[in-house]
Amino acid sequence: MIGIEDALTPHPRLRVAICGAGVAGLTLAAALSRTSDFDVALYDAAPELARAGPAVGLWPRAWQAANAMGLAHALAPAAIVPPDRLVPVAFDFRRGDRAHGGAAAPQLVTPGMISFPRQDFQRALLSLVAGSCGLHPGKRLVSFSQRTSAPEPVQLFFEDGSLATCNVLVGADGVDSTVRACMARAVADELTAAGEAPAAQAALHAARAQWSGTTVYQATVASDALREKSPEHRVLTTPQVYLGKDAELTAYPIARGSRVSIAAFVVRPGSSEEARSDEPHEADAPREELALAFGGWEPEVQALLDCVASARRWAVHTTAPLRSFAHRRVVLLGDAAHAMTPYQGAGAGQAVEDAYILSALLTHPATTAHTAERAAAVYDAVRRPEAQRVAEVSREAGQLYTFNYPDLVPDPESDGEEMLQETYERIRRGWEWAWESSARPDLERAVAMLEGRVPIST
Ligand SMILES: Cc1cc2nc3c(=O)[nH]c(=O)nc-3n(C[C@H](O)[C@H](O)[C@H](O)COP(=O)(O)OP(=O)(O)OC[C@H]3O[C@@H](n4cnc5c(N)ncnc54)[C@H](O)[C@@H]3O)c2cc1C
Repeated sequence: MIGIEDALTPHPRLRVAICGAGVAGLTLAAALSRTSDFDVALYDAAPELARAGPAVGLWPRAWQAANAMGLAHALAPAAIVPPDRLVPVAFDFRRGDRAHGGAAAPQLVTPGMISFPRQDFQRALLSLVAGSCGLHPGKRLVSFSQRTSAPEPVQLFFEDGSLATCNVLVGADGVDSTVRACMARAVADELTAAGEAPAAQAALHAARAQWSGTTVYQATVASDALREKSPEHRVLTTPQVYLGKDAELTAYPIARGSRVSIAAFVVRPGSSEEARSDEPHEADAPREELALAFGGWEPEVQALLDCVASARRWAVHTTAPLRSFAHRRVVLLGDAAHAMTPYQGAGAGQAVEDAYILSALLTHPATTAHTAERAAAVYDAVRRPEAQRVAEVSREAGQLYTFNYPDLVPDPESDGEEMLQETYERIRRGWEWAWESSARPDLERAVAMLEGRVPIST
């Protein structure tokens, strides 16, 4: 039998299995690896850990959480710009979906995002867990089972026929989470047995990932090529956000100005998962696809897209708001719990915050194999409302950026300056939580709940 029975600690206080070694799973494993009386096993379906993917960007709130978990020293060298050398970045907003363009105005000043090549971010965390956690690449979880009473172990079943046990199972297995699906089946069975068939159906439905209606394209272009086409192009010096009906394009200089990064968002409002269920979540896209999506937009946008050789495309899938992130001794972390649209660049940051709260609860002296269920319930009470609020802010930001926000849809023909200013202002206010608040009060509330000083409630 392969699994956490290959214990690294002779008499562990808690045996934690983490399913999924992405941003969420690795961050939690790294935070737990500092605790000597834990056995932590990390399983991932992929044969190789720390694979490439879109850059990981953390806003200050998530970076503070990483720092509080003691991870900043390992992560900082992997950052594209060292966190202590970050400078504020001001984005101009501009209506771009008409041939004559729109007036630009500086609308959003961010403190800067701490960005990492995804592989480097994950490798830095892997370096912390190697030696202290059991690493099991190539292990795809297919299901789990748990009895009602602790400390009966949770049993894990893998595709290769092997099994393992643990006291706490953490489902960090991404947007198409097996742990979430399995948890939903267990919850639905209990609801059905209690005579609550509609709630059981709802629980099963909520566990399915859905296409959000958004497709994201990412590409970079050489600044020299852009300069040749459009010598005065404002993106060469100033980050721009071009807004328009059913699409948005953000572009800004990177690599000391030698390249321009482009993130383009195209939405099909009102679409459902059926509309794209046959498409892969991620694929290469020819530049023609982007050109078609932004046909009729202003010359600046066309100049940018003319320089794109090819792009990477993501059909963004999300989870519906779950009724719980925990069921007994099984919890969900990261995209498995709250996959969200990328309009606030917050998915990975929210995974880091999950790990911040959960690691504090699991390593608290009050948490043992007998009491782990209480820690899971507190995690749910504290993290679920916050993560679901951020997901909702991100959804609304998407509506604002793409002129789909109810009662705030600028006229396609007129300049609609007042409505545009209101849109920009709401977008700006929507961002504030990311750098003007902290996850520290959530942590303090979670510990107070675990210690019984305040009731467990959302
Ligand atoms: C284009 C794009 C740009 C983004 N930009 C940002 C950004 O700037 N900032 C930000 O905060 N977020 C961003 N995000 C979101 C962010 O990438 C995700 O929220 C984050 O990667 C989620 O991490 P995760 O660990 O929960 O899931 P994942 O990264 O999906 O990891 C899940 C892991 O689980 C494994 N797995 C799956 N099923 C099983 C199984 N059955 N058994 C075992 N292992 C399994 C997978 O192999 C994988 O390694 C962006 C997303 C996209 C698409």
